[in-house]
Amino acid sequence: MLTYKNVNRIFIPLLVVFILLRVVYSFSFLWINLLILIWVMLTVIGSFHIRWNYFLNAKHSNYSVKENNIAITFDDGPHIEFTPKVLRLLKKYNAKATFFLIGNRVEKHPEIVAEIIKQGHTIANHTYSHSNNFGFLKTEEVIFDLKKNKDLIAELFQIKTNFFRPAFGVTNPRIAKAVKIEKLDAVGWSIRSLDTTKKTKEKILNRITKNIKKGDVVLLHDTSQKTIEILEQFLVVLDKKEIKSVTIDQLFNTKAYA
Ligand SMILES: [Zn+2]
Repeated sequence: MLTYKNVNRIFIPLLVVFILLRVVYSFSFLWINLLILIWVMLTVIGSFHIRWNYFLNAKHSNYSVKENNIAITFDDGPHIEFTPKVLRLLKKYNAKATFFLIGNRVEKHPEIVAEIIKQGHTIANHTYSHSNNFGFLKTEEVIFDLKKNKDLIAELFQIKTNFFRPAFGVTNPRIAKAVKIEKLDAVGWSIRSLDTTKKTKEKILNRITKNIKKGDVVLLHDTSQKTIEILEQFLVVLDKKEIKSVTIDQLFNTKAYA
């Protein structure tokens, strides 16, 4: 499997051999540079593709599920305007979802989080700060950020969240270490809607519906009117296909809370 550990297992001995060849036989620098370039490329691509499981193992789909279920997930809430709209739609179509919450937004709108819980959805950790520098934080800083959100949610709602999705879906060795130390259950996605980009509603709806099948995990954001409109149409499509949206814990038959 293409993972950071496996790549390093091959890369490090190869680099040593190349350097020795350079010293003893004046082996061309070109090969050493090429090797390093490949390593850097894999590291960068792996960081931005949580689905690769390059640095850590995350849950992306459960295609072995028996029922015709998928899991809709929302990142970056709670949002004062759009999260209540999402909740109304989920109720109308009898769907359940998982909300990956940002701590500093939980602090501002705990009443919305209480409503999410009351309606039987799952809540999860999506960092406290959602810092733009998330991929550059030290291990201790990542741990501090994850714990801050986890502790906040525990204090406000007496819930110890297990599920974690990194900000921007970025992963690296430090984030992987923090997840391991904090014993979190990392969650990715199998279908990324790209609903925060400039893509049209039609294009996004097509993206998330064209190949949808049982076991998929869909990533949306409860942060815009565009997503609200897409969500209603998406729920109609799911109804027609007799696919049901459930929480991540239900789809993977695991525990959302410790
Ligand atoms: Zn996010």
